[in-house]
Amino acid sequence: MSTQTLIESNELFIGGGWVSPQGSDRIDVFSASTEELIGSVPDGTNADIDAAATAARNALQDPQGWSSWSVDERASAMERLADAMDKRSEEMTTRISMQNGMPIAIAQQLEGVFPQVLLRYYAGLVRGTDFEEERAGLLGGTIIVKKQPIGVVGAIVPWNFPQALAAFKLAPLLAAGCTVVMKPSPETVLDSLTLAEAIIEAGIPDGVINIVPGGREVGAYLVEHPQIDKVAFTGSTPAGRKIAARCGELLRPVTLELGGKSAAIVLDDADIASSVENLFSATLLNNGQTCFLGTRVLAPRSKYDEVLAVFGGLADALTVGDSMDPATQIGPMASKRQQERVEGYIAKGKSEGARVVAGGRPTGQEQGWFVQPTIFADVENSHTIAQEEIFGPVLSVIPYDNDEQAIAIANDSEFGLGGSVWTGDAERGEAMARRVQTGSIGINHYMIDPAAPFGGVKQSGLGKELGPEGLQAYLSTQSIYKTQGGAGAGAP
Ligand code: NAD
Repeated sequence: MSTQTLIESNELFIGGGWVSPQGSDRIDVFSASTEELIGSVPDGTNADIDAAATAARNALQDPQGWSSWSVDERASAMERLADAMDKRSEEMTTRISMQNGMPIAIAQQLEGVFPQVLLRYYAGLVRGTDFEEERAGLLGGTIIVKKQPIGVVGAIVPWNFPQALAAFKLAPLLAAGCTVVMKPSPETVLDSLTLAEAIIEAGIPDGVINIVPGGREVGAYLVEHPQIDKVAFTGSTPAGRKIAARCGELLRPVTLELGGKSAAIVLDDADIASSVENLFSATLLNNGQTCFLGTRVLAPRSKYDEVLAVFGGLADALTVGDSMDPATQIGPMASKRQQERVEGYIAKGKSEGARVVAGGRPTGQEQGWFVQPTIFADVENSHTIAQEEIFGPVLSVIPYDNDEQAIAIANDSEFGLGGSVWTGDAERGEAMARRVQTGSIGINHYMIDPAAPFGGVKQSGLGKELGPEGLQAYLSTQSIYKTQGGAGAGAP
């Protein structure tokens, strides 16, 4: 695809308007499919974070501002933002698909629609909700229990689902009455220009949402900024560990949505040949660049060849191509670095003795950061490709002998984010699902639902996003002892 005009901005969205950056460096963005330059924006600096954090703090503390609005007023504003984003859905999805290689048909749903679903979901959740209740004290007297916005949020998002993962944070934090400084990943910055236009149109008050694109140093500066009250991070486990350490020192609340290496457990009664569409979403969605995917396929030894045939056939039949082509099912990796990383894991899998059933070789495309969907057989769970997150279209099919062994293999991972169980017997599937140490798991499918808390265990993260639980992460609780109970009974 050749781009007509470059998407360029010389300003940052801070304090409700477009302001000149403090530095002069720029972030250039390239098409993942064609490697052409498609746009550029200012590279945010620490000084820009200072300005954004001050704007967010002022907006939080404005006595007539966002945090003091009634929940109904905030909910209406969030719905206006969703409407403004609906109008820009095509521009948003086009920009994202060009930047990170997400197939446009997937981007239209998950980036063009899902963020608005989340905004409307949280608007509905808080509308009419009282954030204050009065309780009778155990020792007599009356207590007011007040839920209040946790404060200014530092939100750091990755490039794989830039708007959906931003909305995982924006929707609940707005509903809670917080304000935010958001740092998009350098690979995907052009879509946040579209978001800023929608924010302006929706009349979200100045300074409630501020956007400063930048790299990891600027992200690290945001994490420890004195004006930030809570950090919400989605990204890799190594980065999450550093952020958690810093937040630990600062005693700063933090939510971490990190990497995964989930198991897709195929039971011996499963008819997976009839579930290929669901299998695709659960294991290869977005070119394999999705954190919750079941990239370890556990197959009963009695049906091992059958499972390999289904996955091999699926991988071979996928249309690999320009992400902007509506027929494309697997687009390129988001960056050259990511392509090299995935190819490195494919080489590692071969060198550790795994057998290539599909893919495993370069695609032959001269331009674009493509990787052939690759299925490995004869993988042991101890192999590098079964233990480390690859973040590309590469699946490891691991044999097991009985259900107990399947559970043991599924749980033998440092991660615990998603997963799935494939079976003809829903009850058996549920019983197995309950035993997997993971934050979320699906039976015969895997799809995130706004009403369900999402987040990992073990090295996959801390805390939950989505659902009512996701709102709690942006609220703090104050108790006011309104009237006194029994004399002296409350002494510590
Ligand atoms: P990454 O950790 O390198 O970067 C993610 C974001 O964090 C970027 O904006 C980056 O600039 C910033 N960052 C990196 N190091 C930082 C630091 N020390 N302090 C502050 N900010 C820092 O990850 P990535 O390569 O962009 O994204 C892919 C990773 O994200 C994968 O591991 C994937 O599993 C994970 N991910 C997790 C979820 C989830 O919900 N659990 C969702 C999507 C992606």
